[in-house]
Amino acid sequence: MFDVVIIGAGFSGLQAAYTAQQAGLSVAVIEARDRVGGKVWSVPLASGRGCVELGAAWINDSLQPRIWAYAERFGLKVVKQRLEGRAVMQENPEARFEFPFGITPDFTPEEKRNLEYIRDHIQAESLKPGLPSVEDDDVSLDQYVRRLGALPQTIKMVNLWAQVMHGVESTEESAAWFIDYCRRNRGLLAIRADDSSGGQYMRFQDGAQSVANRIASLIGESNIHLSSPVVSIQNDKSYVSITTADGRAFTARKCILSIPSTMYRELNISPQLSQPVQAVTNGTVLGDYNKAIVCYDRPWWRDHGFNGYFASYSGPVILARDTSVDERRHFSLTCFVNGERGREWSKLYPHERRAVVLKQIAKIFKADENSEAFRPIEVFDQIWKHERFSRGALAPITKLGHLTRYDSVYGKPVGNLHFVGTEYSPEWKGYMEGALCSGEIGAQEVISAIRKGQAAKL
Ligand SMILES: Cc1cc2nc3c(=O)[nH]c(=O)nc-3n(C[C@H](O)[C@H](O)[C@H](O)COP(=O)(O)OP(=O)(O)OC[C@H]3O[C@@H](n4cnc5c(N)ncnc54)[C@H](O)[C@@H]3O)c2cc1C
Repeated sequence: MFDVVIIGAGFSGLQAAYTAQQAGLSVAVIEARDRVGGKVWSVPLASGRGCVELGAAWINDSLQPRIWAYAERFGLKVVKQRLEGRAVMQENPEARFEFPFGITPDFTPEEKRNLEYIRDHIQAESLKPGLPSVEDDDVSLDQYVRRLGALPQTIKMVNLWAQVMHGVESTEESAAWFIDYCRRNRGLLAIRADDSSGGQYMRFQDGAQSVANRIASLIGESNIHLSSPVVSIQNDKSYVSITTADGRAFTARKCILSIPSTMYRELNISPQLSQPVQAVTNGTVLGDYNKAIVCYDRPWWRDHGFNGYFASYSGPVILARDTSVDERRHFSLTCFVNGERGREWSKLYPHERRAVVLKQIAKIFKADENSEAFRPIEVFDQIWKHERFSRGALAPITKLGHLTRYDSVYGKPVGNLHFVGTEYSPEWKGYMEGALCSGEIGAQEVISAIRKGQAAKL
């Protein structure tokens, strides 16, 4: 019997296993996929110029201590996000305008004042401690900002935040969930920033998955069972029994479940989770959070003074950034195709998906049809909803009213079953840092429960 079995080898599961192992516990990690990393997935380029990030990419060295400690420990090289040049805002398929990167786009003075008022209001809310109010949990983010007097331009921008940050529309998440997300992640401004004050400051030159691979080596590959989807969990009084799709059984004193809560219902957990736990976890949704990564031989958009960053209300790409690693001659634009736009885009055939993205890039950067914009050297697209063991991204979002109603049970241990995942993190929820933080907390729960049990027997 193991001390603890961890289901899932994403960042939260790996961290939980490593922390438990460091405390002297025996561990087994059971992962459905044939790789570790979960929603962190770095894929090598055929050109040999490094890799692309199909999942998580950005980190911050001063604000995210856990991921940065691994970067330093493993000696991983990083690249800072490029801040120079002009950004582009696309208001509709035909209208676009340029503005200096890093400031509020040049809307009319009234629109700008209104947007900055709403932004500052949410920023102030996001710096308050504790759980947001029940009233704010019962309204959508869209309703919330309309009640504050948001003008049409602001309503569209707030919707863009929801799409970019969570892969949903602002009508689809509660205001409280959005504010809580900002509270856990150092405020709205830190979430949105690409400089040293924010979440999009740096990327790993050789891919974020190298962190997952290195943690897996620390845990010991023989303790990690890949290609082993778990199908059932028997949560008994004194032990847990876990069965995989191919019929293997693992028993342990404790089990840490690290898959997104939206997917708990796919497992046969017995005895069944309590009604409130089922209500909140069955009610969570994962967003349409997709990437199209377009790699070029050279960063042609910089020739014209563009940063590579653009945002769009019309889509299909709702936001893009330059994700080049110049040192490797890797030049790419990473395009997010999220929310409702992503839902539509994911129904297209691959060649159609690619065609609409290239067309939009050309329009944004004023490139003609014979230009380099239409001659990428590699294109990747990743639709996380199509992934059987993710079913969407970024992190599960609770249903309207559920965040506050089920706060006392959501993510709390049930018998010998403990729950981790970026969605439960008090810091950097939705991020790699949050997954590591939650993994640490889950392992600590298990370590103290096991020690308490041992003390009781003596
Ligand atoms: C497109 C995209 C962009 C992102 N950008 C960033 C970013 O720039 N910066 C950042 O910090 N974060 C980013 N994130 C978020 C980040 O990837 C996640 O917060 C983090 O990786 C989640 O880790 P986790 O361990 O909570 O969950 P997961 O990574 O989902 O891990 C769960 C694991 O459980 C496994 N599993 C599922 N079902 C089973 C089963 N039945 N049996 C066994 N195993 C199972 C899965 O295969 C997976 O390995 C991004 C995510 C996406 C998708």
